[in-house]
Amino acid sequence: MKSIPFARIVCDGNERKYLEEVLESGWLTTGSFAARFEECFAEAVAAPHALAVSSCTAALHLALEALNIRSGDTVLLPTLTFTATAEVVRYLGAHPVPLDVDYATGLLTPEIVSEGLRRHPRCRAVIVVHYGGQTARMAGPGGIKELCDQRGVPVVEDAAHAFPARDAGIAAGSLGDVACFSFYANKTITSAEGGMLVTHNEAIATRARLMRLHGINRDAWDRFKSAGRWEYDVVAPGYKYNLPDLCAAVGLAQLERAEPLRAARQRCAAFYQDALEGTPGIDLPKARVAPADHAWHLFPIKLTEASAVDRTTCIEAMSEAGVGTSVHYKPLHRLSYYQGTYDLKAEDFPQAEAFWQRCLSLPIYPSLNGGEQSYVAETLKSLVRGTPPTGRS
Ligand SMILES: *Cc1c(COP(=O)(O)O)cnc(C)c1O
Repeated sequence: MKSIPFARIVCDGNERKYLEEVLESGWLTTGSFAARFEECFAEAVAAPHALAVSSCTAALHLALEALNIRSGDTVLLPTLTFTATAEVVRYLGAHPVPLDVDYATGLLTPEIVSEGLRRHPRCRAVIVVHYGGQTARMAGPGGIKELCDQRGVPVVEDAAHAFPARDAGIAAGSLGDVACFSFYANKTITSAEGGMLVTHNEAIATRARLMRLHGINRDAWDRFKSAGRWEYDVVAPGYKYNLPDLCAAVGLAQLERAEPLRAARQRCAAFYQDALEGTPGIDLPKARVAPADHAWHLFPIKLTEASAVDRTTCIEAMSEAGVGTSVHYKPLHRLSYYQGTYDLKAEDFPQAEAFWQRCLSLPIYPSLNGGEQSYVAETLKSLVRGTPPTGRS
């Protein structure tokens, strides 16, 4: 029987070489590799400031803190996201206000954000999630950034899925006021655990850099480098969100191959597109951007009424056939904490509701080979058609 996991990480670049350098350096935590990772990442997203941190969740927390989000403030965000997007708002005592998303793409649209801003005129920030690896419509006239700028509301990109991705030629990371990337194990590039805060705003960068490491006015690496300089001051009760060099070494090696890895996922997407196109019961993901501008972190299909199986049955049957799938996401308004705390009603999120009830993410990663992909596609097609899966060996 085949076994095709939902995610599989292959480290076949400079990961081992860099890890060895770190192990031999005498300094395993944040140091020269983290600094190199930041420099290279800043260049990749064409932003002046990139801060390596321990996770995307940490980056989001630092971003909101740097934007001075406080207790009682409201922050708009899509309901179709991972809980991290909303929990960081609660860290600061502020309130997340989930918005519906576009059914076709799973993204916030300028129309949805505009309506959200109208209904919540005192909101203090908008977090945009580049769901699945393609950017929401941020750039240009009528884009989300312009809409928010007109009201003086900063935009945070939750770009956990979107490295590397672009909107109208601009890299995710340079589309909002501040952006947060994830290098968690199953993301498009990984450092096992890790994240990056990116911004063009000097004040945000300065505040986040301070809060990333205990609110100390000079980071530990500087003290390590300049022997004899022992003195430091603490100017705020900061956090412990630095990224160790052990992780940065892996992240840097992955970053070097980000484009070929992205192109390999694009090929996977094109394969699924060809293999599944026109199958009654399967709604393929809609690309808002050109294929080369898409990070292809996820390949979320939807099962329509014409499918012989519902989503939950399909996941079980795929798993029995050895294929790992996942659901992105059970929306915030369905999670008991947010539902209960904010009295959220499913009928207020009709598009996200329809999306999540039907969605199913297929394996998509560079090491997924043609044979595996056709097995995934054929297994899925036979389930959706109501014929017994073929090729079970
Ligand atoms: C993975 C993810 C995060 C959190 O990333 P971590 O690096 O694990 O903290 C945040 N938002 C979205 C949309 C994600 O998918």
